[in-house]
Amino acid sequence: MSYFTHLECSVPCGAGPFDARQTHHLCTCGMPLLARYDLRAARAWSRESLSGRVASLWRYRELLPVFDGEEPVTLGEGFTPLIHARRLGASLGLPKLYVKDESLNPTNSFKARGQSAAVTRAKYLGAHTLSVPSAGNAANAMSAYAAAAGIPAKVFMPRDVKTPFIRECETYGADITLVDGLITDAGRIAAEHGGPLGWYDVSTLKEPYRVEGKKTMGYEVAEQLGWELPDWILYPTGGGTGMVGMWKAFAEMEAIGWLPHGGKRPRMVSVQAEGCAPIVRALAEGTERAEMWQGARTVADGLRVPKAIGDFLVLRAVRESGGTAIAVPDRAMVEGMIDIGRHEGISAAPEGGAALVALRQLITTGQVTPAHSVVLFNTGGALKYLDALDILR
Ligand SMILES: *Cc1c(COP(=O)(O)O)cnc(C)c1O
Repeated sequence: MSYFTHLECSVPCGAGPFDARQTHHLCTCGMPLLARYDLRAARAWSRESLSGRVASLWRYRELLPVFDGEEPVTLGEGFTPLIHARRLGASLGLPKLYVKDESLNPTNSFKARGQSAAVTRAKYLGAHTLSVPSAGNAANAMSAYAAAAGIPAKVFMPRDVKTPFIRECETYGADITLVDGLITDAGRIAAEHGGPLGWYDVSTLKEPYRVEGKKTMGYEVAEQLGWELPDWILYPTGGGTGMVGMWKAFAEMEAIGWLPHGGKRPRMVSVQAEGCAPIVRALAEGTERAEMWQGARTVADGLRVPKAIGDFLVLRAVRESGGTAIAVPDRAMVEGMIDIGRHEGISAAPEGGAALVALRQLITTGQVTPAHSVVLFNTGGALKYLDALDILR
């Protein structure tokens, strides 16, 4: 049974609520909308009922944006392994280090989670064409789910994106436009093209459902750790969907009684690249929003987001959690990929490598101690990024 009810402004600005059976992208105030559920009624849903359910994020479907009788567009995304990283942990003096390995998702990154939820909703809202601006992985995931749903996909990526991201979109039959500039430019051009044609825009946080797919990372970490949240979560942050989603998940789980009210929450660490660190800068400067990062450059395509519409939500989550934000140089994150690989046999994207480098920094400053449990997100696999290894030659 679905507890999905309506959409609400994330600010909240006071407008709404908005009808979830109609297409809405942003609030009338221009800010992101979030999906809301009847959490009081959802207290009747027990976490024990999860055992034996499908090993995908749809095991949490009561609190996902599907109505009764609807069938999700799914390729088996989510419920990825939470690997107890004993060898990597030993090298760092951390017995309780875990890697959430998102490389095992369809299309090799956690972007599959958001796209499964967003494309499902778009299908039931009657979308005839889907479009997305992307730094790479979101375009791959959207192309795959659009193909699975039988809806044409239009993707817009920076011209200098690594070739595998372009080729993979081709294999799913997407229509590809390469633009001069960054994901923000791709977003503008996608909107200019698609707006008049009625394309359904699946941009990060410019539709309400990618967050819902990604919040399941929070549910999974809780379930996989036996309903005790870790002390720290290190999360490579671009548009911020996962950060916003996990923080929402923790609040929902408290509201439905799966986690103790006011209980311990993880300190959330936003990991970015030195060449594109708007969240790190905004946190240091104490501002509510992040300013556009000029000249964004990094080998971690997923982190090449100079300005995110949900920046204030990411900053809110980091601050409320007592966490922090750390910028990592490219060379160190590529070394981090290899460190994760050679210690654990996990295929890590530079974004995952960056999380490891940030963790080392927190150990050095004494913020993370051997008593702490730590979940490090490996948000994608290494294969599409192999060119990044050239930085070490
Ligand atoms: C998109 C992406 C990120 C950033 O994710 P957000 O939730 O949008 O902040 C990190 N790593 C990889 C591999 C990505 O593709």
